[in-house]
Amino acid sequence: SSGAPGVIDALNAAAPESPSEGEHRCKVKGVGCMGLCSVGPMVAVAEPGADLRESTLYRNVVQDDATEIMDNARKPNAGPVERLLCPSDMPFFTRQRWIVRQNSGIVDPDSFKGYVAVGGYAAMVRALTEMTPAEVVAEVTTSGLRGRGGGGYPTGLKWSTVAKMPDAQKYVICNADEGDPGAFMDRAVLESDPHRLLEGMAIAAYAVGANKGYIYIRAEYPLAVERLKTAIRKAKRQGFLGHHICETQFNFDIEIRLGAGAFVCGEETALMASVEGGRGHPRPRPPYPAEYGLWGHPTLINNVETLSNIAPIVTNGGDWFAGIGTEKSKGTKVFALAGNIVNGGLIEVDMGITLREILFEIGGGIPDGKAFKAVQTGGPSGGCVPAEHLDIAVDYDSLKTLGTMMGSGGMIVMDETSSMVDVARFFMEFCMDESCGKCVPCRTGTQQMHALLDKIAKSNATHADLALLEELCEVVQATSLCGLGQTAPNPVMSTLRYFRDEYEEKLAGPS
Ligand code: SF4
Repeated sequence: SSGAPGVIDALNAAAPESPSEGEHRCKVKGVGCMGLCSVGPMVAVAEPGADLRESTLYRNVVQDDATEIMDNARKPNAGPVERLLCPSDMPFFTRQRWIVRQNSGIVDPDSFKGYVAVGGYAAMVRALTEMTPAEVVAEVTTSGLRGRGGGGYPTGLKWSTVAKMPDAQKYVICNADEGDPGAFMDRAVLESDPHRLLEGMAIAAYAVGANKGYIYIRAEYPLAVERLKTAIRKAKRQGFLGHHICETQFNFDIEIRLGAGAFVCGEETALMASVEGGRGHPRPRPPYPAEYGLWGHPTLINNVETLSNIAPIVTNGGDWFAGIGTEKSKGTKVFALAGNIVNGGLIEVDMGITLREILFEIGGGIPDGKAFKAVQTGGPSGGCVPAEHLDIAVDYDSLKTLGTMMGSGGMIVMDETSSMVDVARFFMEFCMDESCGKCVPCRTGTQQMHALLDKIAKSNATHADLALLEELCEVVQATSLCGLGQTAPNPVMSTLRYFRDEYEEKLAGPS
C-alpha cells in the first residue's frame, strides 16, 4: 500500500546482471512486513540470513532511490545512503524479541526454499519422527502458551482435551478472521511468513489426531490469501502437507475458507457455522468445539499467532518458552501500534513489558509534541488505559484489573485532542453494526447504547440518560449470548471509569 512493489521493480532494474571486479553481488528479495509501517516502504541491505538489526535499513524509499541504494550496496567502500538511513539500533528494533515474527521481513513469503533455509519445517519433521503426539501436547503445555486471539485459554489444555476425544474424525481450524479496528497482526504474519502457520497447524493436527484443517480468513486480506494458497500448494508439492507427510503415516490437508466480513465470525461457534456453509451465528457453549465442533466432531481452534508460536516451541522446548514473559503470561505478544504514535507498526515484545515502554520507548511517543491521553487495547471488547496507569505490566491478567484486556493485540493511541465520548461512541457503533441480531440484549441493547452515546456526544443528554446508559451496560454484559455482546459495553465502562468528567461536561439539565 505504500508502493513497495514499485521499489522492488526499480531495485531489480538497477541490479547488474554480473558484478564488476571487487563489487558485491546483490540480489533483490521481496519480503513481508519489517514492522515499522509508518516509514514504509523499507529496504534492508544485508548479508544473507542477517537479522534486521544487523542490516542497513532505509526508510520511505521511493523508486527514484533505487539506483543510489543499489550502487552503494555493490561498492564495498561506498557506505550507506545517509539521507535514507533508519537506525537499526533504535529502541523500536532493539527492545523487541521476535519469535512469531522471527522470519518476517527476512524470508520471501512465496519461497518454500527460503523458509526451509531458515530452519522451516524442521520442527514438524522432529515432531513427526521423534515425538509421540502426547509428547508434543506435553511440550506445548510446559510452554505455558495461552491463546493469542484474546481469550488467553491455556493452549496445552485445549490440545489435550481434543487429543483425548475418541472420535476418529477431528479438525484443526486456524482463526484468521482478524476484525478488530486497528488490528493487523495476523495479516502481517500471514503476508510475511505463511509457512510458519502451516507448520504450526500440521504439528497441532499431529498432536490432537486430526487429518483436516481449515484456515478461516477474511476476504479483505487478498494478499494474505494469495500467499497462503501459494504456501499450501508448495508445501503439498514438497510432501509437507497431504498424504504420508515426511514418509510417515500422518496425513493432513488444509483448505482455506473465506469470511465475508462479519466480525462475529471471529467467535468460534459462529466461525464453525460459517465453515460448514451456514449463516455465521454463534450458539451457546457448552458444548465446546473441542468436544463438539465442525459437523459435530472434536475441533481444535487456535488463532494465527498461537499456531505460529508452535514450531519454535517444538524446536527449543517448552521450558525455553516458559522462561520468557511473566508467571502467568508466557512468551511474547505481537501488537499493532496505531493512532497518534510516532512509530506506527507491528511489534513483538516480552509479556510483562509496561505500556510506557511500548508507547514511549518502542513507539517513540506522541507526534507533534502533543500529550498522551489514553491507549485503547483489546479492540471493541477492550477499554482505554489513561496516563496514570502507563506503568502497568502488559499481560492477560494485569490489564483486566484496569477494566480492559490484552485482546488480540490492537493498540490505538490517542492524544490530548481525542474525545473519549466519541471513542466510546465509535466502538459502540462498530458493535451495533456487527451484532448478528440473534439475541435481544445485544441486538437492541447496542442500538440503545449507541443512541444514548450519540445524545451525550451532541450535548443533548441528561443525567438520567447517563444513568440509563450505565444500567444498559450491565444488562447487555450479563445477558448477551456471545462475547461480542458481552464485551460491547467495555469501551463505555472504561471511558466512564477514567474520563467521567468528559461525559458530565456534555450533560444538560439537572443532576
Ligand atoms: Fe449475535 Fe450479539 Fe447475540 Fe452474539 S451477543 S449472538 S453477536 S446478537
